[in-house]
Amino acid sequence: MLVFKLWFLGVTLACLGSCQSQEPFDTKETRFLLGTIVEFTVFHHDEDLALYAIQQAVAEMQNVEHQFTVHGDAANSVQAFNRASVGQKVFLDIEVEQLLQQSISIHHQTHGAFDPTLGNLIQKWGFSSDNKPSKPLDLNTIRSALAASGVEYVQRDEKYTWSKKKEDLNLDFGAIAKGLAIDKGVESLKHAGIKHAIINAGGDMRILGNHGGKPWKVGIRHPRRTKALGWLPVSDDVSIVTSGDYERYFMYEGNRYHHIIDPSTGLPSSVSMSVTVSAPTATIADALSTAMFILGFEKGLPLIENLVGVEALWVDAKQKVHMSSGMQSWVNIE
Ligand code: ADP
Ligand code: MG
Repeated sequence: MLVFKLWFLGVTLACLGSCQSQEPFDTKETRFLLGTIVEFTVFHHDEDLALYAIQQAVAEMQNVEHQFTVHGDAANSVQAFNRASVGQKVFLDIEVEQLLQQSISIHHQTHGAFDPTLGNLIQKWGFSSDNKPSKPLDLNTIRSALAASGVEYVQRDEKYTWSKKKEDLNLDFGAIAKGLAIDKGVESLKHAGIKHAIINAGGDMRILGNHGGKPWKVGIRHPRRTKALGWLPVSDDVSIVTSGDYERYFMYEGNRYHHIIDPSTGLPSSVSMSVTVSAPTATIADALSTAMFILGFEKGLPLIENLVGVEALWVDAKQKVHMSSGMQSWVNIE
């Protein structure tokens, strides 16, 4: 009898423990990755599982960073391509080849605004270097660096094997690889059994599921104010990415110089202050937010309206807000 009572007590206690932990809650972790602070929020009743899933996502995202970074001495295939001379065949990682091909097609789709071959010029501007720039480049430097760019000078010789046709042409995936990392991170979370989560890499996000049956509330930053511009209710699987002129910039003689470069001039683009894009994947949202920043509302809107599952919000150079039709009925402006 005593044995039965103890067994019963054990079952009751075990049930109490697990019954209590059936309620899901937020597990939050932050890491410094991809040059920014990445915040993971996992909504699940098992904290150990949530932490394990986040750990897996971090590892995936670190892999993407190592594969694509052009900073430091990562022995990756992007840096090997950048160091190669004209005609030298370079073996690219599968993921690099795929992202390069996707980048080239986004380049054409965005009328050249998104350009993965701007590496030489981007490096000369130096916004991502340790020594932050404080003076604009002179026009001759811009001209010669621009001459070393162009997707037509990147050639696929055979599967995974690429070469350049222009001396000093460098690849730079700074406007798209963070998106890919977020997507890979989210795939890891899903693989570990997580259904409700957010990965937020410095304002570039992908959102999974919901928050206890309610949509997640995603704020849109205002490019000049501390108060949010508005927010979006988000459920299911959507990515929301913002590109802004406030991320990396310096002021010189009253003008703002920042890290989003218009390939047609070689100068920081001046038509927008920020652009927020939603898309099914963070890879697409990341690339398009950069491209839409450069194209501006008037040239960019027709493109966005033609894409299924993609919406955009522009804050133009005069702080006027413009939106795609789907964004108008979705966003809550504060
Ligand atoms: P953030 O890195 O702040 O999220 P973006 O996604 O807009 O911002 O990416 C900006 C980065 O993309 C720059 O630091 C640079 O590496 C690269 N870049 C700048 N201009 C272009 C361009 N026109 N096309 C493709 N990449 C660009
Ligand atoms: Mg981008």
